Amino acid sequence: KVRTRFAPSPTGNVHIGNMRAAIYNWLFARHMGGEFLLRVEDTDRERSTPEAIQTLLEAMDWLKLDIDGEPLYQSTRMEAHLEAAETLLSKGLAYKEDKGGTGQGECVIFRMPGTDSAYVDGIKGPLKKAAENMQDFVIVRSNGTPVFHLANVLDDIEQGVTHVIRGDDHVENTFRHIALYQALDADVPNFAHLPMIVNAQGKPYSKRDGDAFVGDFREKGFLGDALFNYLALLGWSPGDDREVMTREEMIEAFELARCQSSAAQVDLRKLTWMNGEYMLKLPEAEFEAMCFEAVAKAGIEADADYAKQVFGLVRERVKTVADIVPMVGYFFTDEFDYDEKAVRKKLQKDGVADVLAQVKAIFQELETFDEASTDKALHDFVETSGLGFGAVMAPARLAVTGIQSGPDLFPMLAVLGRERVLARIDRTVR
Ligand code: GLU
Repeated sequence: KVRTRFAPSPTGNVHIGNMRAAIYNWLFARHMGGEFLLRVEDTDRERSTPEAIQTLLEAMDWLKLDIDGEPLYQSTRMEAHLEAAETLLSKGLAYKEDKGGTGQGECVIFRMPGTDSAYVDGIKGPLKKAAENMQDFVIVRSNGTPVFHLANVLDDIEQGVTHVIRGDDHVENTFRHIALYQALDADVPNFAHLPMIVNAQGKPYSKRDGDAFVGDFREKGFLGDALFNYLALLGWSPGDDREVMTREEMIEAFELARCQSSAAQVDLRKLTWMNGEYMLKLPEAEFEAMCFEAVAKAGIEADADYAKQVFGLVRERVKTVADIVPMVGYFFTDEFDYDEKAVRKKLQKDGVADVLAQVKAIFQELETFDEASTDKALHDFVETSGLGFGAVMAPARLAVTGIQSGPDLFPMLAVLGRERVLARIDRTVR
């Protein structure tokens, strides 16, 4: 049975590159009907604080990466690690060295077997390394603590991991790890190394290039499902041109052989687009609940029926939750800011005040003020006045909303209602 694991070292932030490794382990396990485990490599007591571990668990939860069994905390395994080092020593597969002769204690060094090493990487294909390029290495520090290589391998054995899927910064380590498995008389798991995530310049993608941590995306109003889908496709493809996929579709299609071996470039615009697609797919009630929460957080008091109409208007334009408040502000207050540059260009032009005064008069006379009636009235006005369409609609929108873009004009006017519309036109022409 296939067993994968995510083995992060909690630091308080979860880089999207690490999370992508978790996603691939999860997808592979689910595809194979296997198990996905969590091992928290928390041996760095300074960085692996309870808060850092909490951040990690929350990120996994948000992305719905459910785990099988209980998480294994590496820090609880120190005794087992040291015991294994003793066994290796007793078999002559490791030796002690008083490094630098300080007398502060001796470290334990693993003896590489002195033969060439080769394995077939699930993503990179056959890889090999010559004996002369592999040196003996420390497995227990002189202060008595086990080193990553030993702990990582022993815990993978303990957890019965069959497939190690991780970032390709670990490829070099893998040759050491294979030698350790063999020395410990354990089955060597399958290894697959994911290419790095890079920026537009091909350098490792970092905080300097934009949001890099899972928590950043959550705060900025992205949906966990969208980030999951985006990261899944960052280095893997289903083999056709599908992009927005359900979890089930991704599980069904996932194959390590379809993971690319070259670096994957982050494209935040694509993520934003994808998030918009997921926003559109949300059930209406869920979208509304999100909007209510966002406006409440911004201190906006909203009448429920009116607010629902407003949210319906912007629904197709909202790309992330963070878009909501800036998009709907003018529906809830008359004290919104005007785009000053646009005002200078479009409202403070000769004749515009006169046009808007006429629009106001037309609106005032309408028997009913709704989408159809405002639409017809302004189209008639455009026709009889000989003015261009834009010469009427653009100033009208700007006067009423303060900005140049937004939902379709007529449904928007209908939702705002005659009173607000007239008052706002009035104050801009005076
Ligand atoms: N804690 C290691 C890391 O986060 C684990 C690597 C592995 O998956 O084996 O890089």
